Parts: sequence; structure tokens; C-alpha cells
Amino acid sequence: MSYKQPASYTAYLKEWEDKISAFTELSPENPAPEGEADGAPLDLPASARSLIEGFPCAVKDNIAVRGMRLSCGSKLLSDLRSPYSATAVIKLQAAGASVVGKTNLDEFGMGSSTDNSGIQKTNNPWDTARVPGGSSGGSAAATAAGMVPFALGSDTGGSVRQPAAFCGVVGLKPTYGAVSRYGLVAYASSLEGIGVLADSAARARAVFAAIRGRDERDNTSRDAPAAAQPLFGAAGEGGKTAGVIGVLSPEAVAKAIAQAPSDGADAAKALEAAAAAAELESEVRRGFDAAREGFAALGYRLVDVEVPGLKYGVPAYYTIAAAEASANLARFDGIRYGRRPDWAENPDDLVDKTRDAGFGDEVKLRILLGTFVLRSGFQDRYYLRAQRIRAGIRAEFEALLGSSLYDGDAPPLDAILLPVFPTRAFDRGPSSLSPFAQKAADLYTCCANLAGLPALSFPASVEGGLPVGVQLLGRAFSEGKLLDMCAAWERVHPFPHPAGWKDLWS
Ligand code: GLN
Repeated sequence: MSYKQPASYTAYLKEWEDKISAFTELSPENPAPEGEADGAPLDLPASARSLIEGFPCAVKDNIAVRGMRLSCGSKLLSDLRSPYSATAVIKLQAAGASVVGKTNLDEFGMGSSTDNSGIQKTNNPWDTARVPGGSSGGSAAATAAGMVPFALGSDTGGSVRQPAAFCGVVGLKPTYGAVSRYGLVAYASSLEGIGVLADSAARARAVFAAIRGRDERDNTSRDAPAAAQPLFGAAGEGGKTAGVIGVLSPEAVAKAIAQAPSDGADAAKALEAAAAAAELESEVRRGFDAAREGFAALGYRLVDVEVPGLKYGVPAYYTIAAAEASANLARFDGIRYGRRPDWAENPDDLVDKTRDAGFGDEVKLRILLGTFVLRSGFQDRYYLRAQRIRAGIRAEFEALLGSSLYDGDAPPLDAILLPVFPTRAFDRGPSSLSPFAQKAADLYTCCANLAGLPALSFPASVEGGLPVGVQLLGRAFSEGKLLDMCAAWERVHPFPHPAGWKDLWS
């Protein structure tokens, strides 16, 4: 049966939006027109369909929805409206969801706070003086406030999981290629994908099931291999869950950093930043320990694991992400896209003026960094080295979890439990995290993107009035397993909500 919105919905939305500014465009009375659902009919069990059909949802404003804004959080694109919809959006609409708005983000997905948006600032629903995390901060905040039961985000280095952790919702970053990127404005194509923010494990599962699958418009998209555990059914939700969890603790990361050879000043600086970021704020530490104990109580066997390559994950991630961003963002030149200056001397001047006025500082920094690491004669020193680190990290995860392509053998571990981010949602005052510290803190999230593996974050506890998330990372196409584990947790530890939240969705 299709869900019907309560009459109070619009008022509830407005009340929250006035407080948190999660949306760059919001039109509950006039949702986006449905896209052309031309794909194969969705094969969704009734239980999953009933969690989508008739429900409103939100879409990060770097994912195309026909007729709606597509600002990417950038001044340069603030007037752009999309003439087409992303495949993931068309599939959600085919399953009966309606898109009520587009959500704020760090410009082009570059950031961890959503404060890098050129459009507006979004507040955390738990404490409006704090950031919602980023870059999918609008989607996470809107879901946490109960404005929508689920939203789409994108995750290049943690942008679904980290804001999910900051706002206290479920955040799923699928296996690379499991969801079509068609209609997602590219930031770093080899790392990113569309992900799900949701109010429960069951809803995240339903939404992922609706949007996944091979799409001829994205050649990197794939169906789950036949041998992968099904998302639904006997082995799926509600089935046996207990197994073996590898625990990647901050101590294991610190140990790898301490043992690393420090060859030169650059490496020493990278290791020092990694050491600072690996250490968890005491409240986050308590949440992580609660997760460890909670899973043990659920019957899981916990074993300590190490991923030594993680210590170089952040420099490798930012080298590759910036290199790809510098190429992907070249199209925003005021000619094909973008708001033009009133007057320019010549075409080059037009491009310069458009980009200078349109891009924010963080985007400019990354374009410069990207062109620097790719400049001729230096690729070996930065870009290719980063690719080698990436291959090494992927190999370390595969050694723990089994082959990247599902081979049907019983995997040594069901999943790896690790932190999401070293802090809870930070504020905007002097105790805020510096832009450099925010990047170093991507340590625990960016490795899933480097390895192309699925990872999920969910709220494990509330400490000092703010949610603390933890992360489960699994082998390729093991989303069903990660969601089973999250659901097992949720049955015993219902997810928390911020003050003022009303349950419109169950
Ligand atoms: N914080 C990371 C960055 O700024 C993650 C971004 C993302 O996943 N889009 O690149």
C-alpha cells in the first residue's frame, strides 16, 4: 500500500528548513515531474517497495532531477536547471518515490562540513551551531530531522558516511559501479558513486535495491554477480547474521604509522597528520567501543585486523581526487556551462572571469593541486605513486575480505568495523577543525573509495548530545551483508533522533 503524507507535512518541513537550511530547492506541493522510466521493470519485493512508494525523498544537488536546480553547491551553476534525470532518480520515481527537493552540499562535493557551499550554510539538526558534515550534509540533515525518510547523496571519499555519522542516520556507500553514475556531476570519477542516506537499515536496503544495477549510460556500472549474497530472501534480511568481524582500531592505525619508514620531509609530514587524525575524540572512542561490545553481545566474533597502507590513504586520495577534479571541472567555462561575466576582453578572459567569480576557494585549491600533480615530468612523483598506494590498499583489504570480485568462497571476514571520523559534528567557532585537519580526518572513509568497496555508517551511540557513527566495510557487492549487520544492531539499539523530530514515516 502506498504511503500517504500527513496534512501537517508541509508545515513540519518549513519549521525544520527555517532552522537548518538543508535544501537548495524545496517544493513539497509540486514535486519533480517523473522521469521517463525506460529501464527494465524494477524487481523489488513488496516489503521493499512499501518503504519507497508514496514517500517523499531528497536528492543531493549534484545529482540531476529533471526540471529542478542542479547547482552543485556552486555560484557558477546557481542558475542551472537540469533538463534530464539521473538513472538512480528515474528508478526511485519508478518505485513510487517523489523528489521534494534538492539538498545542499560542499561545492562539487569537495569538503566535510557543507560549509564549502557557495549557496548557503546548512546546520546540524542536533545542534544548529554545528555543521551537518559533508559533502552530502543537506541530505543527511534532512533525513535526520525527519523531513524525508531517505535521500540520495554521493560519496567520493566519505561524503555519505561522514554526514550520516554527524547527523545520526544510516549512510550507505555502495560498491564502485553498483549504482549508475549517469546524472551525477563528476568530481573524481574513479572514486565516487551515488549513495543512500536513510532513517533505517530496512529503508537503506530498499532504496539501494531500487537504484542499483547495470546501466548502459554508465559503462562502469555493473549488476551484482550471481554468486553474491542476495539482498532479500533467506540469506538476506532477518536471516542469520552472526559471523566474524575484523576490528580496525585506532591503535592498529597508530602502530602502522609508528612503524613506517620516514623517507623524507613530505612523508614525515603526511605521517604526522595521519597520526593526529587516527586518534579519536574521547566521545567517538566511547561510541566505537560501544559498537565493538554491542556486536560481541549480538554473537559476532571479533578479531583485530591491520591495514598498514591506510596511513598513506589520505595523500593518495587527495592526489587522485584533485587530478580527476581538475579534468572534470574543465567544462565549467562560462561557454558550455556557467554564469558568464557581463563583459570580457576575449574568449580566454571570459573563461578566466567565469571561473574566478564562480568557483570557491576550496575548488580553486583542488584544481591547482590537480594540475600540479599531473604536470608533465612529475606524474611519476605524485600521481602514479598515489595509484600504486591505491593498489596496495586495495590488495590489503582483499587479503582480509576475499577477492574483489565475488568468488563464492566463504570469506575470511564478514566485514571490518572501523571508525567513520575522529570527531563528532564540529562547530563553526574557534574550536572548529581547520581545512587541513578536515582532510587528514578522511583517513577512515577514503580507503573504501580507493578500494572500490562498499561501506556503511550508522549511529552507534549518542555522546554529549551528539550522535557517534561507526563504519562497516565489506567485500565487493556485500551490501546485503552490511545491511544485515546494521539491521541486527538496530533491532537491539533503536536509532536516536534529535529534539523536535516527529515520526512521519513508520
Ligand atoms: N571530504 C572529502 C573531500 O573533500 C570527501 C568528499 C566526497 O566524498 N565527495 O574530498
